[in-house]
Amino acid sequence: MVSNETKNRPRLWVDFPPLAYAKGEFYFVGVMPLASKGVIYIVIDSFHPRALRHCREKGKLPALSFLIERGHLDESCISIFPTVTPSCTSTLATGDHPAQHGIPGMVWYHRGERRIICYGANWLSILKSGVYQSSMDFFFNLNHKHLGWDVRTIYEDLESQGITTAAANPFIYRGNDEYDAKIPLSIKLTTLFELDKGKIHGPKKLCLGQLHQPPGNLDLVTEDVRYWKNFGINDKVSVAAATWFLQQDERPDLLTIYFPDTDSVAHSENADCCEPCLTNVDKHLSKILDCFDSWEQALEEYVFVLVGDHAQSTLEKGKRAFIKIPEILKQYSQARLGENPVEGKDIAICSNARTAYIYILQHRQGMRKDIMKKLLAELISIR
Ligand SMILES: [Zn+2]
Repeated sequence: MVSNETKNRPRLWVDFPPLAYAKGEFYFVGVMPLASKGVIYIVIDSFHPRALRHCREKGKLPALSFLIERGHLDESCISIFPTVTPSCTSTLATGDHPAQHGIPGMVWYHRGERRIICYGANWLSILKSGVYQSSMDFFFNLNHKHLGWDVRTIYEDLESQGITTAAANPFIYRGNDEYDAKIPLSIKLTTLFELDKGKIHGPKKLCLGQLHQPPGNLDLVTEDVRYWKNFGINDKVSVAAATWFLQQDERPDLLTIYFPDTDSVAHSENADCCEPCLTNVDKHLSKILDCFDSWEQALEEYVFVLVGDHAQSTLEKGKRAFIKIPEILKQYSQARLGENPVEGKDIAICSNARTAYIYILQHRQGMRKDIMKKLLAELISIR
């Protein structure tokens, strides 16, 4: 039995200013923060304002419309740069820019480890890096080694102040509690059991796909919701975990929910008006609001903050709009993904969708100027 009485919570609004964390594409707040309310902080991957407008005009988003009408929609928020998930979600979890939190992209060169880091952008990159290294980077190193220790996540920050946090499938999960990670069988098999255990540090209440489930019967709830898809890091498990947290006797003061599926659907559909994306998210939001006696009651008990980590741009159909940087800079020897450690190469090119980092590894006089000259010449020639 779930009590809907507003419990005597710490004043989250003093310690959790949504604006400080809401640096995504846009956000809105269900109601203005008041004392004794909790916060439900939802990150929707590739939440696109034009798609939101398009679907709302068709009357397809009852839950999102309810929150917008009762709160505030701000489309002027912009994403951090570069607009890739690891960098953006790190910012949304810490309130800091990549220069501070240390996650500059999906793909980047680690000068300390002398290798290209890639958080599994696609299957080819996983094969190039090796399943073991990709899994280590994505499941463990991103949160425990690469995310800077000079910054604190929202979980570390709030729990050190005695505020209870829970997270349903967070991309950035680092918190103060240590857990044994349950490595998915497919990862164990493909790494020949080289990766069969590990520790994660997360918030007090954490559901992280197949890697970690909190004590209780949540695993029974998630069994029939495509638990296997993306190792359980998918929307259906996220909403199952979120509603489960809200149905417990002790509801968390802060509940974060990450919905990853919109990103992959938007890649295959039209990102500008992706109806399947947002109609699915809306159904998930309805389930979360239905955990309360009424949707009004949900707003009495919690402040809702929804953000997108970034959006997507639609490319002109039939055109592959890219610049072949490796070819332009072919006179320089280039580090390869999976080369560990990189030995004697001139440069490392790390492509992040519409952006790329070029790291100079063996500096020679005039090299930087020459690289810039070649890239500018290419840009001028394609305009
Ligand atoms: Zn994303």
